[in-house]
Amino acid sequence: MGLLTALEGGYGDHGDAVVVDGRAMSWEDLLGAAGAVADRVAGAGALAVLARPAAETVVAVVGGLLAGVPVVPLPPDSGPKERAHILRDSGARLLAVPAGENGGTAEDGAVGVDGVEPLPVDLAARGGAHHPEPAPERPAFVLYTSGTTGAPKGAVLPRAAVAAGLDGLAAAWQWTAEDTLVHGLPLFHVHGLVLGVLGALRTGSRLVHTGRPTPGAYAGARGSLYFGVPTVWSRIAADTEAARALGGARLLVSGSAPLPVPVFERIAALTGHAPIERYGMTESLITVSTRADGERRPGSVGLPLDGVRTRLVGEDGAAVPYDGESVGELQVAGPTLFAGYLNRPDADAEAWTADGWFRTGDVAVIGPDGFHRIVGRASVDLIKSGGYRIGAGEVEAALRDHPAVADAAVVGAPDDDLGQAVVAYVVPEGPVSGDQLTAFVAERLSVHKRPRRVVIVDELPRNAMGKVLKKQLLDLG
Ligand code: ATP
Ligand code: MG
Repeated sequence: MGLLTALEGGYGDHGDAVVVDGRAMSWEDLLGAAGAVADRVAGAGALAVLARPAAETVVAVVGGLLAGVPVVPLPPDSGPKERAHILRDSGARLLAVPAGENGGTAEDGAVGVDGVEPLPVDLAARGGAHHPEPAPERPAFVLYTSGTTGAPKGAVLPRAAVAAGLDGLAAAWQWTAEDTLVHGLPLFHVHGLVLGVLGALRTGSRLVHTGRPTPGAYAGARGSLYFGVPTVWSRIAADTEAARALGGARLLVSGSAPLPVPVFERIAALTGHAPIERYGMTESLITVSTRADGERRPGSVGLPLDGVRTRLVGEDGAAVPYDGESVGELQVAGPTLFAGYLNRPDADAEAWTADGWFRTGDVAVIGPDGFHRIVGRASVDLIKSGGYRIGAGEVEAALRDHPAVADAAVVGAPDDDLGQAVVAYVVPEGPVSGDQLTAFVAERLSVHKRPRRVVIVDELPRNAMGKVLKKQLLDLG
């Protein structure tokens, strides 16, 4: 069985199999146009794809995969420097762009980089050659991490890892060819592209990409499975009509960042479906998820997927007990792991343990029942203040309990006395002062966890996946 089983006939009975931003294609149309790309790129080192939310992006990605050429998606609104870095780092010489476009001018940096050539993608083209299924250890993608904690790193994802991750998800979510998956997430990230697009092409379900992940677009799409990041669910939770329209779905899935408990609860109340929360990353795809037929516990991401092993390791390297309270670094082993970072021996050396486990850099708690709770990133969400270790998420949750708080992010700012001081950034949705919030959380948190400073801001800096950029908050002072 190849990576893209739908394209070998294993698909559901859907007329238009793939709809991207209003453009519908049958499986045959997709296979034909992708085949034309495959014919052009076979033997190339890597294929960069300007990953706009467009049918051409899906066709180009599938073309690269059919030919066994590693696909390197480029964020469409990335600046010239980021694009140039990804193109150079990955060594891609071809950049897929919709036919009729030249891939941008030298000013916006798409082509013009070290002789990168645009490859026009024509939806009406049809391929001829038969491309044998590439070996499972071949890279399917070089995917760049979100750059939340440093410069984005190119993770090399073998085809077998992608297949294992998607099969684990299909089992956990009972995801089949009967489903219609709806999402409007960026197509350059593991969530929207690997889970969202390849997940549909492996399970044979219908795919509707809404162009943008707006509540209205989701509400109008009539799917059985919906993927979103927490910001998307938070907007849907604030739009009662859109949320009610999702009542007919089977599963509403959140990932890529922590889903705040109030958003979980409001989505559950309005749609009648408690969301499925899952946790993963570019390097290990999906690692842990709530099951379709299991308990959906707010604030928890559930259990490791089939074949995935996790463990919690303390700062001293010792195993941390699974008591639902003790925190440790989450480490992962199993068939979904990436093969390593491209051109980053330093990052590889840091990421892998001597016995072959991947250090996620995330801090977690595991309960006696195996349910995982993600506390946050070791580097920014675990605050060390006056000898205490404080999880930023707990302080954020206390602030969010206030009715006039729309959003909150907590960081550990450098402090001469405490090492780090707890500082909160709050987006209000009503009149509220920093002092009032300080008094409010004082009733909920022990002294050492209370913010030393509460800063009111208009919005939190977030990246395209809705992740809060805490390093930028620290720079604000
Ligand atoms: P970089 O590695 O470049 O700093 P990044 O880690 O944000 O960026 P991604 O691979 O896109 O890049 O994101 C993976 C991270 O997202 C995880 O390590 C984790 O911190 C966070 N994450 C994903 N899902 C969840 C979730 N359900 N709850 C909490 N955090 C999550
Ligand atoms: Mg990361």
